Amino acid sequence: MSINWFPGHMAKARREVEENLKKVDVVIEILDARIPNSSHNPMMDEITKHKPRVVVLNKVDMADPKATDRWLSKFKSEGKYPVALDGRHNQIIKKIEPLAVKATAEDFNRMEEKGIRRRAIRAMIIGIPNVGKSTVINNIARKKGAKTGNTPGVTKQQQWIKAGQQMELLDTPGILWPKFEDEATGKKLALTGAIKDTVVPLDEVAIFGMQHLLEWDPERFNAFYNISASQDDDIVTVFDAIGKSRGMKSSGNEINYEAVTNRVIHDIRNGKIGRYTFDKVDAQ
Ligand code: GDP
Repeated sequence: MSINWFPGHMAKARREVEENLKKVDVVIEILDARIPNSSHNPMMDEITKHKPRVVVLNKVDMADPKATDRWLSKFKSEGKYPVALDGRHNQIIKKIEPLAVKATAEDFNRMEEKGIRRRAIRAMIIGIPNVGKSTVINNIARKKGAKTGNTPGVTKQQQWIKAGQQMELLDTPGILWPKFEDEATGKKLALTGAIKDTVVPLDEVAIFGMQHLLEWDPERFNAFYNISASQDDDIVTVFDAIGKSRGMKSSGNEINYEAVTNRVIHDIRNGKIGRYTFDKVDAQ
């Protein structure tokens, strides 16, 4: 689903999130493990204020494992409670719940000291579109296909879902907008499917992806498309090689660049070529 984020939508989304935040003890922020920085809404820290934060690096099956380890360490060092997982798997609650318990331990201990009886930990999920919020919620709720209001402005009665042994989760996620701070961020968001509409020209997205994959691991890229390209090649040569190898030609026997563009984006987006992380920890 594509959402056009106009300032009015952003203000409304923010208000909705802030309203829901009052009801919870802990925030579960879902990020795409391939772009932990680009899939993070920069206003998140301001909006969530001092709520403890569990950070889920979702889609870990498509991210570079070494980079994921670095991101986990970084988030830990910032006092967050991170975990990397594949939101489609059952049992993810067993990974998330212990972190929510740890994240809220101090607050709950303080309440107990004041004589307030222990209750379930209340949590809500927040993230930009397409990072896997509904997948995670549905998985925890074990209601496959359960509808979650995914559009800001679509209000529905909220419910608490029992999540694990001592947690309750709001069944509607908080949806924040993606950031477009710079061109590279926009391209990474498009490359991973966080934005599917053509906010960024697709040929530029494909070129950005091809250049990175050729830089990081030319052998894998070449083997996948059965070509022999290098990062020093003119990018049109690479398009030509893929088009030729995959038989993507239009009527005049010309390479169909649009088809190559769409194919490369599809392959990267769906992790077909390999596991890549486009945001590097050191580059932050
Ligand atoms: P939302 O907009 O944040 O609620 O995102 P969705 O839950 O609708 O997920 C977006 C897409 O990502 C769907 O096609 C999911 O099947 C897919 N997806 C979610 N989690 C994972 C994951 O961990 N790994 C992979 N490979 N795909 C996932």
